[in-house]
Amino acid sequence: MRVVRLLHEGDCRYGLADASTVTLISDEPFAAWEPEGVLPLSEAHLLCPVTPTKIVCVGLNYRTHIAEMGHRVPSEPLIFLKPSTSVIGPGQPIVLPEGVGRVDHEGELGVVIGRRTRNISPEQAADHVIGFTCGNDVTARDVQTHDGQWTRAKGFDTFCPLGPWVADVDPSDLELECLVNGEVRQCARTSDMLFGAYDLVSYVSGVMTLVPGDVILTGTPGGISELHPGDTVEVRIEGVGSLINPVVAAEA
Ligand code: MG
Repeated sequence: MRVVRLLHEGDCRYGLADASTVTLISDEPFAAWEPEGVLPLSEAHLLCPVTPTKIVCVGLNYRTHIAEMGHRVPSEPLIFLKPSTSVIGPGQPIVLPEGVGRVDHEGELGVVIGRRTRNISPEQAADHVIGFTCGNDVTARDVQTHDGQWTRAKGFDTFCPLGPWVADVDPSDLELECLVNGEVRQCARTSDMLFGAYDLVSYVSGVMTLVPGDVILTGTPGGISELHPGDTVEVRIEGVGSLINPVVAAEA
């Protein structure tokens, strides 16, 4: 079963989707809920599946990306934040800001927190996770290099596509791809991560309290490339789904 968020009769609602239908639910999926009607999945206007208070990202978690960036392999996870205002849902445009130079895609597995989480072990983490989604840690690469820290480069509005839903899967060995205009640019398996999804939940929970809907983006593999107006970028994760976003230039 997959958790979706959708626009239904003017309201943002949560639902549970199977292959062809969405069952609307009375409350957030993290709470007690009742089923409230069914509609065809093909008619659902899907939104970003969660509304995180924060997106905790992991840098340098795949050796192929560490190599292409010219960094050393870290001995513990390197984490940073993207603002909640950078989040967009499936189908929404990634807007390239004017005058920032190169902007790259970074396809990543997203972990969605389902319970209030603080100081837990990796063995406890699965009980605190509601599922997994596709994420794109869009990055203004020249800005990242110029600034020396990553808040501006990673924090522009629309720089965090998430979706299309939250799927309950085993995250340990899934194929992850990122395609631009149908061409595969990144391809890896989540088993290639230096620090696995549940290790990361434990690590982050030792730093800050995670709340339902918060997202941890688990890092990107090698193959990052530049996005241009008119492109379509897709993050596809085995057993999770496919997140597709168009790329547009900022309006002058
Ligand atoms: Mg990243």
